[in-house]
Amino acid sequence: MTSFARTVLEQGSHPDAGVPVPALHVLGTARLLDGATGARAVGYTEQLMLPGTLPQWRLDTLIAAARTVGLLGRGGAAFPVAAKLAALHTGRHNRVLVNGSESEPASWKDRALMRCAPHRVLDGAILVAHALGTRRTTIAVHDTASARILRAAAHERPDVRKIRVIETGGGFVAGEVQALINGLGGRPPVPNGRRILPVDRGVDGRPTFASNVETFAQLGLLARLGPASFRGAGSPDEPGTTLVTLLGDVPRAGVAEIPTGTPLRALVGPGSSPVLLGGYHGTWVTDMDLCLDRPALRSHGIGLGAGVVAVLPPDTCPIGEVARVARWLSNESAGQCGPCIFGLAAIAEDLETLAAGRPVDLRNLHVRLGLVDGRGACSHPDGASRFVATALQAFRDHVASHAGGHSCGLPVRGALPLPPPVRVAR
Ligand code: SF4
Repeated sequence: MTSFARTVLEQGSHPDAGVPVPALHVLGTARLLDGATGARAVGYTEQLMLPGTLPQWRLDTLIAAARTVGLLGRGGAAFPVAAKLAALHTGRHNRVLVNGSESEPASWKDRALMRCAPHRVLDGAILVAHALGTRRTTIAVHDTASARILRAAAHERPDVRKIRVIETGGGFVAGEVQALINGLGGRPPVPNGRRILPVDRGVDGRPTFASNVETFAQLGLLARLGPASFRGAGSPDEPGTTLVTLLGDVPRAGVAEIPTGTPLRALVGPGSSPVLLGGYHGTWVTDMDLCLDRPALRSHGIGLGAGVVAVLPPDTCPIGEVARVARWLSNESAGQCGPCIFGLAAIAEDLETLAAGRPVDLRNLHVRLGLVDGRGACSHPDGASRFVATALQAFRDHVASHAGGHSCGLPVRGALPLPPPVRVAR
């Protein structure tokens, strides 16, 4: 089994960022994190020393390369990148939107990438903008440190056409691409009531290629390495590497670059079941033989989502942990769709009752979970329902004893991170 090659950055040692960055690890050979050896962002001159040069590909070449390596989006939906690019035609009216608004509280991988290897992100943004024939590129982030580092990196480069780095408001749903596009347009940063694809109407109402920051970094890497070399790592169905956030009771907590297809058991300690895969819209799993390859996971009905791999420590109550997150997810509803507003609140209340060791009608809770699934204008209720439903299954022994009026007696330590509550001025 491949072992972790190195830890390239210890927690909290990134003075550029001004705020702590989790430890960075590499399993196998570093690609996105190549050169990230120290306590600062990889500079442009250092980037030039790394393998490959950034070509200026036409759109058809970019599409063909993305199709050859089966590149999937890294923001959660895992949509084929080639298909998204193929929906656009070259023209100055196009827009490029790099989504770095990492809204998943358990994830750090996008911020780690932007802060430690910003030129990887810029490579992809420059590549796509050239292929689409546009000078209008926006990088949207939620945090000041990433914005500052990306702006400084853009200033270093002679090949940057026009890139604006914008700090957008926080909030879980505000990172959803349509919510983000609405926010950039000065509208409330919430999803649309109906599905409008960015390739049809995105930033400024124009056709837009929008994807997660890691997707852009992977595209830049693909162009630098070429498809044949890019395929030299990872699984045959999804070649390359991927970034994950390792959290909780795991041997190497932090952000890791791993080859796709890495077995889950290589990332978590022995006996670390259940594992939360994806994030707070993700899935609790108990099969440690699962491989982190999006097509393979999809065949099991599981997504890699935001790339979170989390294990709860044994000294915290899992039901209480799940209830905390469920309440937060309920509070993060954008307040537009009835099943999302009322359904998620009722589910959170049931879980809080269960966590307190008071009787709950579990059949009713499962009915509520089914009623919210697929009933919103965005995927927020579906993801929240999946997170809770799979937790009830994965922690069924705890659930049974809590439902029978016997709480485990463990404290709720808050092992699953949540943002601090926003203070409202009165
Ligand atoms: S499903 Fe929830 S979060 Fe999504 S648009 Fe409706 S109310 Fe907002």
